[in-house]
Formats: sequence, C-alpha cells, structure tokens
Amino acid sequence: MSGQVWFDTHCHLDVEPLVDDLSGVLERAWAAGVGRILVPAIHGPVADRGFPPWVARAWGIHPGICTEIAPEAVAARFARRDYEPCAIGETGLDPLAEPPLDHQEQVFRAHLALARAHGLPLILHVRGAWDRTLAILREEARGLPWIMHSFCGSWEVAQGFLREGAFLSFSGSLCRPTARKTPRVARAVPAERMLLETDAPDLAPPWWPTRDNEPAALPSIGRFLAELRGMPVEPLADLVATTVKAIWPEWEAGRR
Ligand SMILES: [Zn+2]
Repeated sequence: MSGQVWFDTHCHLDVEPLVDDLSGVLERAWAAGVGRILVPAIHGPVADRGFPPWVARAWGIHPGICTEIAPEAVAARFARRDYEPCAIGETGLDPLAEPPLDHQEQVFRAHLALARAHGLPLILHVRGAWDRTLAILREEARGLPWIMHSFCGSWEVAQGFLREGAFLSFSGSLCRPTARKTPRVARAVPAERMLLETDAPDLAPPWWPTRDNEPAALPSIGRFLAELRGMPVEPLADLVATTVKAIWPEWEAGRR
C-alpha cells in the first residue's frame, strides 16, 4: 500500500460483477491504497455481503427506480433496516430517469426527513432539475452534509450548491477526453469540498483495462484530479481524507 489512503465514497460493491468476486475486488482496492469504501443504496437497504469493517453502507431508494415505493412507505421501510447506515442515498432528482419528477420529489423529501431525524449525510444523485433540487435541499436539509455524487453540472450550478456547503464528488467521468464542464468545476471547487468516487462497476476512467470499473481505479482518478489542479497527488489525497473525516468523524484512516 502506498503512502496515501484513498476513500471511494460511491462504489456499488453489492451488484454484479463486483459482488461475484468481492474478495478479489477488495484485495485489489486495498493494494491500490483504497482504505474506505462507501456502498450507496439503490433499493432501500444494502444487503450485507460479508463486507469488512472498512466498507460502510448507506440506505436509500434511487430516484431512477423510486416508483417501486410510495413516498409515505419510505419511513416504514427504513425502520425495518438491520444496520445503521452511514448516509442516506442515493436520493435526489433525475429528470433523465423514467419515474415522474413529482413522484421522485416526494420520495426525495421522505429521504430528507430520515436524514434530518438521524443526522445523516446525503448521497445525492442529481442530473438536472438543479434549481428545484437546490430549493428542496435548502428547505429540508440545511446543515446536513450534501454529497453530490459524480457531479455533472456546470460551474454556475456548482456555485449554488457550494454556497450551501455541498461537497462535489468526482468520478471517472471527469477523466473522459470529451469532458468539458466537469474539469472546469474540478479545477475551481474549493479544496475542502472535493471528494472522489469510482461509481464502480460504472464510469470506468478511459485508461481502465475493462468495461467494468473497480474501486482499485480510485487512485488514478485522484492523480488525474491532482494534475488538473496543478498539485502533487499526496496533498490532494490528504485533503480528500480530511474532508471525509469532517463528514464521518468516526472513521479511522482506513486501517483494517
Ligand atoms: Zn451510483
């Protein structure tokens, strides 16, 4: 393991193909220097696949599939969980997804009530409807950490969220040769508001040898971001680790 400890704040370890080779995936991640992985939720709870203690689980219903639940049923489903999640999400608004936006908003608001009640950070999946999302978050989730997963908005959009204290998480989509908006955002975001994620098995960076992404790709995304910001990689890893620690003070620096 190299000197830096990296934190993958968004990695779907519980889905195929990652779950099929979980010990291999985790071993390669650890060897690459990844010391903490957060598994975001899609269908409510994240099932325990025998994760080691350095893997943390969120709880949430993804906006893209949220027609599977009525807004008023979210709290009851959460009450039936068998673990304490480290965050609420994925939740948010996605106008590109099938569920009607009004339904998405109601399910989103139900998630925000849970986050408030339990003082939990939010893992936000947002791909448009930026003003509406920001207004809802302002109204319902002031003071909680907002983590904009694989942020894809413009710098103008980013500023509105950053003014409210949001964190912007960057993935392999930052590294695509066609990326324009995101590199601009990644260069300009204040140092203490940036996070890194793989969103594996999706969003592999262009140099990744297979179509299926893995958490072991995280340090290479970190190196890309450091280069973009014109800084050495070690202080960037330290900055991100400090930010993670500010959001989850209970997390040790990724020792097994
Ligand atoms: Zn995701």
